[in-house]
Amino acid sequence: MAFEKERITMLHGAGGTVMHNFVKNHIVKNFGGLDLFADVPLEAMDDAAVVGDIVFKSDSHAVKPIFFPGGDIGRLSISGTVNDISALGAEPYALASGFVLEEGLSIDDLDRILESMRQTLIEVGVGIVTGDTKVVEKGNLGGCVMNVSGIGKRSIALENNLWTVKKYRSNFSARWTLDSNLVVGDKIMLSGTIGDHGLAVLSAQKGLTFGSKIESDVRPLNKVIQRVLGEVGGVVTMKDPTRGGLADALNEFTEKSKVGILLQEDKIPIRKDVVIACEMLGLDPLEIGNEGKMLFGVVSQKADEVLAFLTQNREGKYAQIIGEVTDAFKGVAMQTIVGGKRIIARPIGDPVPRIC
Ligand code: MG
Repeated sequence: MAFEKERITMLHGAGGTVMHNFVKNHIVKNFGGLDLFADVPLEAMDDAAVVGDIVFKSDSHAVKPIFFPGGDIGRLSISGTVNDISALGAEPYALASGFVLEEGLSIDDLDRILESMRQTLIEVGVGIVTGDTKVVEKGNLGGCVMNVSGIGKRSIALENNLWTVKKYRSNFSARWTLDSNLVVGDKIMLSGTIGDHGLAVLSAQKGLTFGSKIESDVRPLNKVIQRVLGEVGGVVTMKDPTRGGLADALNEFTEKSKVGILLQEDKIPIRKDVVIACEMLGLDPLEIGNEGKMLFGVVSQKADEVLAFLTQNREGKYAQIIGEVTDAFKGVAMQTIVGGKRIIARPIGDPVPRIC
């Protein structure tokens, strides 16, 4: 009997269990263990790696379409890499860009994207210092694919944050805000509303309107994060809930920290029009990707202060404490509004393709 060869599907790039298993069984399998100098190696599968005292990240962006409500592939590619570097507590230091351009892309569109990248770089406060451009024949690329890689460094703000954590947890020895740092009692905080980015891209892909305009939340978060670490502190971990959404990011926390997380559904910030659109389309907002949001794990003694600080800033205006770390169970569960608990499993993949 002849078996069809296994091939790459859209699910292999959609976050969730299919992508994670693929990365583990093919990419980490070949490259894991070779990184002798990495303090946070490839196999940790964190938001970025740590080599020496440098945080290092590479991220390709293939969002389709390249312009969508609230953003474009240029702003997305800078923000995505900057936010992953920031999730480890590091301050972005320099970026590199690799463009794959599709034959036929208009130079005007490319210029709009480059100008948007320039504006985002000014917001971030770093530059692109090296890069590369390639062109491929017309096909299904959708105009262009952009890779942005970058490095970040330790900051006084990060040191202050780690000392603050140590005040409440004497055995805390992590040097970065890693996914594996959570312990029972830590509070889980979310910086703002979920689902906006995925639905904005979906509306552009399918030509849908939802009554009101849902815009992407795409934005760099490095400045506000460095301020939270430096001026408040007590943050043990961070993660940006991108592909696979909150459900995927929180499950990753629980797997790596070997704990459970109990969410409170009524605390999860979400716009009413996003709820309605998700109901219409049969989508779970917990599984939809975000590009301008951060999850924080915070020592309970500092949680109210971190929340108060975030809500005073544009990037964290709708921040909420959405849950708590527990040892009553493993994985993620949610106390629902109607009463009772629902298990939040890791999604197979983000329901919206090519959102980042
Ligand atoms: Mg990330």
